[in-house]
Amino acid sequence: MIIGKMLIGEAWEDAADGTFFDTYNPSNSELIGRVPAGNKADIDRAVAAARAAFSSGIWSRMKPAEREAILWRVADLLEKQGAEFAELEVLDNGMPLAVAKGMVQSGVAMFRYYAGWCTKIQGVSGDISVPGDFHAYTRREPVGVAGLITPWNVPLVMACMKLSAALAAGCSVVLKPAEETPLTALKLGQLLLDAGIPPGVVNIVTGYGETAGAALASHPDVDKIGFTGSTEVGRKIIIAASGNLKKVSLELGGKSPVLVFKDADITAAARGAALGVFFNSGQACIAGARIYVDRSILAEFSEAMAAVAANYKVGDGLAQGTVLGPLISSRQLERALDLVQSGIDDGAQLVCGGSRLGEQGFFMEPTILTAPCREARILKEEVFGPVANIIPFDSEAEAIRHANDTEYGLAAAVWTTQLGRAHRIAKELRVGTVWINTALTSDLAMPFGGYKQSGWGRERGEEGLSPFLETKTVYACLD
Ligand code: NAP
Ligand code: MG
Repeated sequence: MIIGKMLIGEAWEDAADGTFFDTYNPSNSELIGRVPAGNKADIDRAVAAARAAFSSGIWSRMKPAEREAILWRVADLLEKQGAEFAELEVLDNGMPLAVAKGMVQSGVAMFRYYAGWCTKIQGVSGDISVPGDFHAYTRREPVGVAGLITPWNVPLVMACMKLSAALAAGCSVVLKPAEETPLTALKLGQLLLDAGIPPGVVNIVTGYGETAGAALASHPDVDKIGFTGSTEVGRKIIIAASGNLKKVSLELGGKSPVLVFKDADITAAARGAALGVFFNSGQACIAGARIYVDRSILAEFSEAMAAVAANYKVGDGLAQGTVLGPLISSRQLERALDLVQSGIDDGAQLVCGGSRLGEQGFFMEPTILTAPCREARILKEEVFGPVANIIPFDSEAEAIRHANDTEYGLAAAVWTTQLGRAHRIAKELRVGTVWINTALTSDLAMPFGGYKQSGWGRERGEEGLSPFLETKTVYACLD
């Protein structure tokens, strides 16, 4: 069993009050680790360490090329230890090993991508028009101490995403990983120290959201919060952050639409829609859970998608050939099953799936439902499980209207062979990412984030760096 400690400054520590909590393997409910239940006192210590490191300039004022070199070293070490990280992620989160390996590679790529930005953070200078002779320029400076709060669905990638951007900007950080999946974040903490990140620049406090997370979000000496999680908790973060008006970035929930037109390549669309909603057993904010299909191809499409789902092997992430692992917890499984039942109560029928698989672990069949009534809960709430609804439409305008009829705005997919239609719809959809004839494609250079209640701000690309930077304008009188 893994006995975890929190990283505060350069020390690996227990919670100040000595409490801890356990973390389990969702494939078989086996106890795999025990980590400190950090709370406000621990957050205070971690923020103090982060502030001291920031003020010392050891990282925040380090030469950009040196920062870059260290972040590259982080990536190299992560790549080298990739197999260990991937296996730990499978044990803690349940995802299939092949997926976990891909996640590690994404993490590696994130550190390399943002390493490159270290030497490209620049202000501007220009002639100004006020009377007198001036030299005016801007500086881009790290925002200060950043609190990073992450969810359990893709734990390592979330930590890497936020850490790489914050560190490239020169911030010091306090990371609070999700209580269900704290292990890879702690392992990453040691790797960051080994790579040469100076002590105090990265602090990692394991703990509950309501205690450690809330203390971080409301801390008066934290300058910025980068949060990924539910829309509900996102609202709490905003309120907690209001005390010192710290900057807030939010990557929140989704209920993403998929639009399939009769001119689409139906086989490709069925595969893409299945991948888009069932990937990571549906535990993805970008899951395309509302699938709108031209009525004339409804039966053909539904059959094709159900056939893809039938071929997915559900099982332990470490077992050969597993495509879908378990849900993270019994609570999450119950929620998904309950939402399926609510969909049936609201008039939908099962095309496939709908049940728990086995007695052990939290496995669920990939599930497809037909259309429930328009106001059904299942069309509004995020399931965060392997559940899709297929809903017919009769016109492009109707499909767009349905797609936008949600409080979320994270992503959408369009399947059509008509070029004009594809781009017309991309323009109309109120979402942060549109996929045309593809599913889940994502690149580090391109921004990711949500419209409406799916979030504030963007991660990835240059836009993902900006929230960790302040802009300072300097006027120098030359007279
Ligand atoms: P969650 O309950 O919102 O938790 C996310 C993180 O916030 C966890 O570390 C959690 O700690 C912490 N937290 C909980 N209450 C808090 C509070 N009052 N103050 C500060 N922090 C608090 O979300 P989840 O259920 O773990 O994750 C699933 C959600 O994440 C889904 O809604 C999904 O859509 C969203 N998500 C969004 C994106 C995106 O990029 N838009 C990506 C992935 C996931 P505990 O672990 O202790 O609860
Ligand atoms: Mg949670």
